[in-house]
Amino acid sequence: MTMKKYEMLIGGAPAAPASCEWFESVNPFTAAPWAMVPRGSKADVDRAVAAARSAFYCGSWRSMTASARGALLRRLADLIAADAARLAEIETRDNGKLLAEMRGQLNYIPQWFYYFGGLADKIEGRVIPIDKPGVFNFTREEPLGVIAAITPWNSPLLLAAWKLAPALAAGNTVVWKPSEFSSVSALEFGELFEKAGFPPGVVNIVTGFGNEVGEPLVTHPDVAKIAFTGGDRTGEYVYQQAARGLKHVTLELGGKSANIVFDDADLDAAVNGVISGIFAATGQTCIAGSRALIHRPIHEKFVDRLLALARTARMGNPLELTTQVGPITTRPQYEKVLDYLRIAKEEGAVCQLGGSPATRPECGSGWFIEPTIFTGVRPDMRIANEEVFGPVLSVIPFADEEEAIRIANGTVYGLAAGVWTTSMRRALVMSERLEAGTVWVNTYRAVSYMSPFGGYKRSGIGRESGMDAISEYLQTKSVWIDISGNTPNPFVMR
Ligand code: NAD
Repeated sequence: MTMKKYEMLIGGAPAAPASCEWFESVNPFTAAPWAMVPRGSKADVDRAVAAARSAFYCGSWRSMTASARGALLRRLADLIAADAARLAEIETRDNGKLLAEMRGQLNYIPQWFYYFGGLADKIEGRVIPIDKPGVFNFTREEPLGVIAAITPWNSPLLLAAWKLAPALAAGNTVVWKPSEFSSVSALEFGELFEKAGFPPGVVNIVTGFGNEVGEPLVTHPDVAKIAFTGGDRTGEYVYQQAARGLKHVTLELGGKSANIVFDDADLDAAVNGVISGIFAATGQTCIAGSRALIHRPIHEKFVDRLLALARTARMGNPLELTTQVGPITTRPQYEKVLDYLRIAKEEGAVCQLGGSPATRPECGSGWFIEPTIFTGVRPDMRIANEEVFGPVLSVIPFADEEEAIRIANGTVYGLAAGVWTTSMRRALVMSERLEAGTVWVNTYRAVSYMSPFGGYKRSGIGRESGMDAISEYLQTKSVWIDISGNTPNPFVMR
């Protein structure tokens, strides 16, 4: 079978890579290549940034009314909705995540473009009742310029939408670098911008590797802001590079989120929530509830129930809608998860379930790992502190609220947390004291275009989604107009 050879999107037109090289995108279920992705380089980044810069300063985008910009975003949303099923299937072939999950994401992505499209013409400045007589002072909210959007492989189009929708609504232009492991859906998605009627160069897509495309993009002098989602180590490096150019940044990074179950919880709901927090998406999600903190009085009985439900998980082809746990997306990630299984056992954690590659016949030749549950995990173990990004749950007992908070807040991360309780007081106290950008009470893994999302501590900087996101792509200008008609003393501050 010949594989489709993709092109990038630069200045509104398909673009072959300057390197004339392509690399294979591998389907994690079959472990076989299925598409050819352009291997971009600095030369392509330079072309894409030039196109984005020219669209920002010279093209019709700049002079377009905010209402017209919003209409374009909403037209794009309609096109995504019409193409959702096809794009979801491409994502599953690219990253191995369940088709059911990717369909859910694709059907929901249009909402980001409707929401921010609606917001585009509601970006308003203020008139300041300034303390100085004879002066009129007002503010304007202006776009930043060229935005570099850099995304990971786990939810390729969703995480891009979180950046593109507010960035475009605010009037910026974009160069987007998707993950080298999941670029195909991005390149297919790119075609929709032209169909929607976006002027050329407003959105550009350069594919390739982090060091070959990501880094030249981050350090490019004409890029005003980096909107990055990925691991915290890469994020730290990107932040350092961006600092040299004093660029704006948004960083959405990793997590080691705690799902905390109290003895007064609705245990049916809590078991369900803890399992979905870690095994949905095969644990390959930044918000994975990879630590289950269980109140001592119910620890044993709760673990039994977790094991019973986890044992029923159906593994297999992610394209089958009945599959519940799919493969690990990449070979290096698969090896990393296996490493953590070994580390956890060496540290003395007790493997109650899984702990090995999955050899079930329905897993074919994909990179599968059995849903794994460790008990006897101490908060100081590596398995309790480091992001595994796989179907691996660490269960840690706690005695009371104080200890739960201490353990939950005891990692370098702070992306999300779950609390399971029927006590209103407990829900409020915990949601206040947990150091996490999102706290879910009696639910888990809920996100919306309307609600701000982001991390505390090493989980990130800035917020995506909701009203907070638009200000991440704007800068405020203060305009002073003298209306006094006087000529003041030139030697004193006005
Ligand atoms: P990664 O950090 O390896 O890569 C992310 C992106 O950065 C990729 O496009 C990669 O090519 C690029 N990149 C790599 N080196 C670069 C460099 N030097 N300069 C610029 N760009 C560079 O992450 P990943 O393995 O693709 O994704 C998994 C990670 O993403 C996990 O840690 C996960 O928690 C995190 N994540 C966070 C969120 C969130 O919203 N907080 C969401 C999803 C995933």
